[in-house]
Amino acid sequence: MSDARKEDALVVEGLSVRYFTQKGEVKAVDNVSFTAGLSDYLGIVGESGSGKSTLGYALLNLVPPPGKIVSGKVIIRGKNILKLQEEELRKARGSLVAMVFQDPFTTLDPVRTIGDQIKEVMTEHGISEEEAKERIPSLLESVGLPARLAKSYPHQLSGGQRQRVSIAMAIALRPAVLVADEPTTALDVVVQRQIMDLIESVRKMGTTVILITHDIALAAQRVERIAVMYAGKIVEYGSKDVVLRNPAHPYTRALLNSVPGLRVSKWPEPIPGFPPNLINPPPGCRFHPRCRHAMDVCKKEEPPVVEVGPNHYAACWLLSRR
Ligand code: ATP
Ligand code: SF4
Repeated sequence: MSDARKEDALVVEGLSVRYFTQKGEVKAVDNVSFTAGLSDYLGIVGESGSGKSTLGYALLNLVPPPGKIVSGKVIIRGKNILKLQEEELRKARGSLVAMVFQDPFTTLDPVRTIGDQIKEVMTEHGISEEEAKERIPSLLESVGLPARLAKSYPHQLSGGQRQRVSIAMAIALRPAVLVADEPTTALDVVVQRQIMDLIESVRKMGTTVILITHDIALAAQRVERIAVMYAGKIVEYGSKDVVLRNPAHPYTRALLNSVPGLRVSKWPEPIPGFPPNLINPPPGCRFHPRCRHAMDVCKKEEPPVVEVGPNHYAACWLLSRR
């Protein structure tokens, strides 16, 4: 969704990811396209299982087995991340695109000091040992940590401090794009706010931030643009203000109506049923079994993406037939 612009930092085109399981192929991300500009702050929101994390991993060409990217392009600063050879890809991770995870323990080595681990990120990308050592104190300070923590081990830090360290590692090489996958879910409310402020400051330094979250209220406070995912597809994309005030897709409306402070209709409109099994998703519009506006065409044909306003897109037959 959205037209590629010259200043785009990230261009995703026709991206599809499958998990090849014994039960069948899980169509976790299906023909997803979007762009994000320099310093953009894009939120990818949707229910659990909609494919958000898989999309995040795919932006780094890091989908774990049995997952596989089966088609599409992920272009960052003109390079298609999905076409890079192993060595080039290793360099691109960190310098072009980096990721912050929900649980920093998954990225931190428990038996090595924080300083050693940050240093390695830099030396692996061609920065000399000396220079890396010199940069560590200011890098730690830039994420709100005292330089002396370089000598600490991950278990000696609080959850919030560990997340700051993983952000320091992610931004050590000033990547063009930072993917933050539920970065504050495991943290208390005060620390959550601090980490979100830190991510905001990273964006202000010129990095494009992709925030993946099931918490649409959090996205509403923070991001500039929103992509709404349902069953492996982006069903709506646009500026936050427009999508929140004037959602075009019935799923977005239903999602907003489930959050008290964001409700767009007078009455709560709970979403009936459950998200579909992505091994065998419903034909036509994947939302049709849960949509109270579903028409015959919705059950048979996939709705096309329609531009419903300036840089505001949605995929729903109600919009194509206006
Ligand atoms: P959550 O917020 O719960 O993490 P999500 O929106 O990030 O959900 P994904 O985790 O990307 O969604 O999952 C998308 C689909 O892919 C789901 O149907 C999920 O069951 C499936 N899936 C994810 N990881 C695997 C895996 N390793 N093997 C098989 N299927 C997987
Ligand atoms: Fe509902 Fe049809 Fe629109 Fe899908 S395409 S959201 S089923 S009206």
